[in-house]
Amino acid sequence: SPIPDYLAEALRSVQADHSGATADYIPELAHADPDRLAAALCTVDGHIYSAGDAAAEFSIQSISKPFVYALALADRGFDAVLEKVNVEPSGNAFNEMSVEPDTGRPLNPMINAGAIAMHSLVGPPGATPEQRVDRVADGLSAFAGRRLHVDEAVSRSEMSHAYRNRALANMLRAYDIIADDPLVAVAGYTRQCSLLVTAEDLAVMAGTLANRGVNPLTGRPVVSAAVVRQTLSVMATCGMYDGAGDWMTRVGVPAKSGVAGGLIGALPGQAGIATFSPRLDRHGNSVRGVNLFTRFTADMGMHVMEVP
Ligand code: GLU
Repeated sequence: SPIPDYLAEALRSVQADHSGATADYIPELAHADPDRLAAALCTVDGHIYSAGDAAAEFSIQSISKPFVYALALADRGFDAVLEKVNVEPSGNAFNEMSVEPDTGRPLNPMINAGAIAMHSLVGPPGATPEQRVDRVADGLSAFAGRRLHVDEAVSRSEMSHAYRNRALANMLRAYDIIADDPLVAVAGYTRQCSLLVTAEDLAVMAGTLANRGVNPLTGRPVVSAAVVRQTLSVMATCGMYDGAGDWMTRVGVPAKSGVAGGLIGALPGQAGIATFSPRLDRHGNSVRGVNLFTRFTADMGMHVMEVP
């Protein structure tokens, strides 16, 4: 297949770009090797192609959000989820206090306020905090087709600086969006963000979304097609924070970024794509990741609004 050579060539074309900076509000991430670079692609018929540091592990961070949203929809149903978190783009940064003024409902599940609320909704009603973390780890592992583990150092590091997320969780508790102790909710959400993945894992996870919720590697159904449609729609409108409109017009695939440098895109019916490069732009999106996806769109005609 020409795909691995193509991916390797694409990585070389962005390698010299050292602009941007690693996230500095989580000390463990600030110390990450900023030069690591990877791309991976997983087709809906289960072929994986990769180039660069595709087996290097890093924390999933916000890329966990669409998958936990999908799990909450699967566990609790659409009405219960929409009652707690809306689906409107906020146009704000990921950690903004974006909630509806009268109800306290977060604007969408891709910003931290919405993601903390979603974490507290996974599993059966009445699930303990430990059961929710287990459900998230099990569910994301099913999307990846491999057992994922928490990076305890990253989790501790983020928790020791999580004052903003704690403020968000307190606000959610005040509005009865979450029923948990706010600190417990943030601790669970932070463990969720600290799950370690590789670019290949992320490509398979995105590939599962591209494949109507069935993992292309294991053949195992993870969530329903209706849940996938909802999740991809929210990724398309809210996945790239305050850069969402720019992303959708230029790259044109449902996507999600994370502050450790991961980036995924899902092409419905075709493939999941993932890149990894830790230096971020001012929106918190990977600089070389965005450039790679821009190239992929141009070369492969990926834009979902483009008639082939
Ligand atoms: N765990 C990070 C936070 O809550 C995730 C942010 C991101 O990846 O964009 O601040």
